[in-house]
Amino acid sequence: MCLVEIGLAMVEKSPDVVWHSGSVGPDERRKVTKNSPAVVWLTGLSGCGKSTIAMALELALIRSGHPAFVLDGDNLRHGLNSDLGFSAQDRTENIRRVSEVARLFADAHIIAICSFISPYRLDRRNARNRIEPHAFLEVFVDAPLNICEQRDPKQLYRKAREKLAAGTPMGFTGIDAPYEPPENPEVHVKTDVQTVDQCVESILQTLRTRRILLQGDA
Ligand code: ADP
Repeated sequence: MCLVEIGLAMVEKSPDVVWHSGSVGPDERRKVTKNSPAVVWLTGLSGCGKSTIAMALELALIRSGHPAFVLDGDNLRHGLNSDLGFSAQDRTENIRRVSEVARLFADAHIIAICSFISPYRLDRRNARNRIEPHAFLEVFVDAPLNICEQRDPKQLYRKAREKLAAGTPMGFTGIDAPYEPPENPEVHVKTDVQTVDQCVESILQTLRTRRILLQGDA
């Protein structure tokens, strides 16, 4: 009997479910993509700049010939995660599913750029543990709460403040739900003092240093 993790429950996996290995190995994939597997995990408060940096990074990678794809929190909640809300339990399940998807992208040598508030250290650690250690880059997209609240690109802080004042808190990260900053991220960018291009460049530099990008100018 084998137990697999589904949400917070352990579910028995049928013994008839077997793993099929493919015929394409990592060396053959690397010849096509010119990069090794990578998951770039952007975490930070709403409005800190995750989506902006994720899209700019994706563009830079694609333009230099490296397959990359953004897994965006809001976008995935339209489909795969449309049944999940924002309770601590649902946020955990959200991150579990996303990290499994990111692992598939990494296996295909497509650089998975994950843009999720992902406020809990434990969830991010679990995401990291699903990926090859060398392939996982945690990027702390850092900006002070008051700056994020001034930007408020989706007007969510305003809504959260209104709900809190009305006595119906919505559990919004930074307002009435916690954000646990990374303790040892591979990359730390500060979007109140660095430009988008500078933030993207420091992520690219780490991908180069790790020899994840094998050629090209990205
Ligand atoms: P998030 O995805 O973290 O919720 P968004 O990327 O949607 O945040 O919004 C961040 C806002 O901050 C955008 O309007 C963006 O133009 C602005 N911004 C200003 N400076 C930066 C920067 N250095 N990096 C990223 N975003 C920035």
